[in-house]
Amino acid sequence: MPQESPVCFAIDWAPQPGVDFACPVCRTAGPKRFVLAVPSQLPPHPSLRLYACDACGSLSFPDVPVPSYASAPGPATASQAAIKFYLEQGAAPDVMVEPLFWLDRQTIHRYAEVGCGFGFGLDFAREALGWSVQGYDPSPAAEAGRELLDLPITPDYLGPATLQDVSPFDLILASEVIEHISDPHAFLTALAPAITPSGWLILTTPNAAGVHPAATPGTLLPLLTPGYHLVLFNAASLTRLLDEHGFTQHYLRATATTLTIVASRQPFAANPEAVLDRDLYRSYLQRRLAILDPDLPLAHGLAGRLFKEQVNAGQYRQALETFSHLVASIGQRYGLDLDDPVQVRATISTPQDFYRFANQVPMNLCGLAYRRGFLALHHEQQADRAQRYFNLGEVAGAALCQALRGIGADDGETEHLVELCRLGALEAAVAAQDVPAVSAWLSQATAEPALVSWQVRAHSYIARCFSDRVLAGDHALADLLITALPATTPTDLPEHLERDTGRFLLARGLHALNRQGDAAGALAWLAAAREQLQARVAGGDVVARELLPTLLTAQLYAQASAAPAESLVNTLARQAEAQRSAQEQRAINAEVFQRLVHAGAYREAEQLEPLVLHPLAASPTELTAPLAFTLGILALNLKADHTAAHGWFLRATQLSPIGTDLALLASQLAHRTSANLPPPDVMSAPNSSPPVS
Ligand SMILES: [Zn+2]
Repeated sequence: MPQESPVCFAIDWAPQPGVDFACPVCRTAGPKRFVLAVPSQLPPHPSLRLYACDACGSLSFPDVPVPSYASAPGPATASQAAIKFYLEQGAAPDVMVEPLFWLDRQTIHRYAEVGCGFGFGLDFAREALGWSVQGYDPSPAAEAGRELLDLPITPDYLGPATLQDVSPFDLILASEVIEHISDPHAFLTALAPAITPSGWLILTTPNAAGVHPAATPGTLLPLLTPGYHLVLFNAASLTRLLDEHGFTQHYLRATATTLTIVASRQPFAANPEAVLDRDLYRSYLQRRLAILDPDLPLAHGLAGRLFKEQVNAGQYRQALETFSHLVASIGQRYGLDLDDPVQVRATISTPQDFYRFANQVPMNLCGLAYRRGFLALHHEQQADRAQRYFNLGEVAGAALCQALRGIGADDGETEHLVELCRLGALEAAVAAQDVPAVSAWLSQATAEPALVSWQVRAHSYIARCFSDRVLAGDHALADLLITALPATTPTDLPEHLERDTGRFLLARGLHALNRQGDAAGALAWLAAAREQLQARVAGGDVVARELLPTLLTAQLYAQASAAPAESLVNTLARQAEAQRSAQEQRAINAEVFQRLVHAGAYREAEQLEPLVLHPLAASPTELTAPLAFTLGILALNLKADHTAAHGWFLRATQLSPIGTDLALLASQLAHRTSANLPPPDVMSAPNSSPPVS
């Protein structure tokens, strides 16, 4: 195999002159605006220029010859490696078949896919939906699908003659096909007669709106796929094309990178709420796996997708079972022990080339490691084990990205998974209370000239971990995490720092109070937190409701300590203790309440009173003599409610050991309040404070 010099698939946005050509979509002649230049994925990798048609909004590469899909470019090993990647990681059958769920499936019997590739969509339609299926595709991938899945795929391009003698289909899907065709009008002219009058055509294609300089390579390279993609549509140019061929009724969903359109000649109702039935998808994957040789890349790919579905569905036990099958089979094929992520990680080297890399590891390794780490962290509570899987995922994903970019490709998903692994590694290190690992993570994450999107996600994760730690009373890590966050105030807090949930605001308030001794600063954070939490509680948010008592207590504390600046250190330390039970929380509320009353902060104490009284109704034995005494003081001094005060002082008398100062004082006050005598001065004097337990 001749050695090629490595190609840099950098995208060049530097302006170039426009050129004249007829737009392949709207046929408008005249000058087209230059957008970017990028090397072709096909040897000898000439630079290709992308132009925009301002009349319809489409983008096209005008001077690209249509590549042959029948014989894959490059050596046979290249084609095999590309198929292996597609089966293990690249294909997203769930995304592919989702539009089938937008329609009334009962009316569909005959289904065809043009450019079906390996045929995942056809297989699902046949096995899970029970449709009669037919595929058209001349590629080696389609040949593999015909053999491995026993699918009826005609190994041919769609031409005027292809569909002539075929009875029409209720639905034809052409997923990620039309962008490969230089004349989209000829394509639609060939398709239209093969669709029943009330039938549907579904097209998916890259969204031209995603082509802009701020997009990441992981987004841009799949959009452009230079050398293969010839025309890129936006929503307007795609609907315009379909209109022209009689498909005037549309239902369109657009993401930043993909357009999916359902079109028909007759009005129809697509269900805008409909999504893929994931139970059906999981059972399809399970049935397929049951009849496949488990050591095939196809089986590793489907098992990896099932594993992902099970983790996402919270079926952790089943997910671990699926993973253990993968461990056995991947061990068999590659000699890698997935139960030992450190060992696997050590075997991954910088890929020399894509084809060799494809034979060294399963190409969904990054996703497998990420989800196994997720299970270790959230299901098994093994944070250190999770860390090792996340580290493996990051290394495996980075190597795959590098291998893919070596051939000018990217799948977008791997880039995303690498990021999830990096964020997971932080979460795991924090959960493991591994201070050196957290420290290293933070300095690495903030040192590199990061993309804005990464920074936003990293900060949002750090903020979440910070809030977790503060609310768990783990201040050593909280102190460290906060250093990696941008300096903010309650009023300029960006949304991604948990602003709307109020959680980070509360954590910042507690941190200011407990760690920085900054009661005034704490009050500002807590006031902002209260606003958000109350709005959430009004909306029925359970988590926010659980945070409210902590907030209220902290707020009252901050108020009390901002004024008399008393030594509240002991109670504050307890306030911060980890994993409080409801009972401990009640004890803290009661203590704070008493301190507020005896500091003369009656209004603040009154706000806390319901939190003290309410649990007493359920557990009357938690009423202590000092608490009863304090409730009496508040009733008397704030509300002048002698009857209530009398009741509380009596309870305090009964609960105090005979002969103590408190028993004596309580009984005197019980007597005075019963006689409606004016309260004595002694009540608000500091030395009248009951002993605090
Ligand atoms: Zn145009």
